[in-house]
Amino acid sequence: MKYQRPKGTADILPSESAKWQYVEEKARELFKKYRYEEMRTPIFESFEVFSRTSGETSDIVTKEMYDFYDKGDRHITLRPEGTAGVVRSFVENKLYGPEVQKPFKTYYMGPMFRYERPQSGRLREFHQIGVEAFGVDNPTLDVEVMAMAVDLLKSFGLNSLRVAVNTLGDLETRNNYRQALIDYLEPFEAELSDDSKERLHKNPLRVLDSKDEKDKEIVANAPSILDYLTEDAQKHFETVKSLLNDLGIEYVIDSNMVRGLDYYNHTIFEIMSDSKAFNGKWTTVCAGGHYSGLVEQLGGPQTPGVGFGLGVERLLLILDAEEDALPIENPLDVYVVGIGDVTNAVTLKLVQNLRHQGFTADRDYLNRKPKGQFKSANRLNARFTLTIGETELQEQEANLKFMENGNEISVKLEDVENDFASLEKLAVEGE
Ligand code: ATP
Ligand code: MG
Repeated sequence: MKYQRPKGTADILPSESAKWQYVEEKARELFKKYRYEEMRTPIFESFEVFSRTSGETSDIVTKEMYDFYDKGDRHITLRPEGTAGVVRSFVENKLYGPEVQKPFKTYYMGPMFRYERPQSGRLREFHQIGVEAFGVDNPTLDVEVMAMAVDLLKSFGLNSLRVAVNTLGDLETRNNYRQALIDYLEPFEAELSDDSKERLHKNPLRVLDSKDEKDKEIVANAPSILDYLTEDAQKHFETVKSLLNDLGIEYVIDSNMVRGLDYYNHTIFEIMSDSKAFNGKWTTVCAGGHYSGLVEQLGGPQTPGVGFGLGVERLLLILDAEEDALPIENPLDVYVVGIGDVTNAVTLKLVQNLRHQGFTADRDYLNRKPKGQFKSANRLNARFTLTIGETELQEQEANLKFMENGNEISVKLEDVENDFASLEKLAVEGE
């Protein structure tokens, strides 16, 4: 019997995990500057947390949920996205209370699960880094969240990005637009994909998000929501655009853009990349927007929010295709070479001691001859080797070699243990 990982999942091996850590660390650094703090919510939630919020005609709810009944007959879902769980927690922990600073700003990172057809950049277990800000209805915050997403991508050296922006307006806007869209789409009903036929009357805005080529052709000429904005919605959108201009963030308006999730209103945005990782096809890496009803839907007081989710696998595909975008290193300061059995204990003590002093240190565990150990040291790109044989042990000394230029000095074990940093300098300079 051979075991394989489940379809659409990936093993992140040591050669890859350093990249993940790099991305996560960069994100944490940036979020700190914007004063967003991390939240860690469960990987699984009640089914309703997502079914109520993502939209009953969304792909997520209709096709992609990993849901099951647990042994206590509870309907559970592995989270397909981050926002609903964060909102559930926000409500449950009463983070809307008067003692909590507004906006309440938080970020998360972790695995998400969607039953999709796996392909490049589309997995069944994938990872998102996302942010949410709750509690103020100010378009300035929408813009700040967008700016943060752009900053994040730029911090990885990505420059060929497209920021697409749209508004879904308020409820009145959408009701008016909905009818206009139905009127436009009905004559094409027979030509629409099955999904879109189904959605045409239930949620026509979803049709705009169809990935079917024929559907895409049809919706290309659909009426624009921008012609249906109420005065309020118009004002919100105008502010967003003008602040984006003030910040010098380039963007395009895509009035046909909706999002895969139903909960958005007012500002929505996507950041796309035409990286060679996607064969130059503009692909969304980061997406988000403003929402008003989510907190209420999950039992809290009416509280607006805004956020984004970034697909980590897609970001890594871009970074992998870019030269030098991932400065990954796994430095080894000292490789301790022990010659003969008698040095086993002392070499172990030495690597431990060096680690405690803050250096990275390694040694041999295969009882190899010095030649083999030096080979390892070279392969691991060790900065120094520290060699100790029987004679050195007796003298309580060792040989310290700076690998870059071959300088060697004899050092006292006592000095190694007390202050390796000074010896390091001596060895670099040569005696
Ligand atoms: P798509 O239209 O590509 O299906 P979506 O609208 O379902 O995207 P969101 O729910 O907005 O995507 O998720 C935000 C980001 O998360 C996406 O832009 C993408 O980078 C990433 N993402 C979404 N689904 C997957 C997946 N199955 N595998 C890998 N990354 C994903
Ligand atoms: Mg999707």
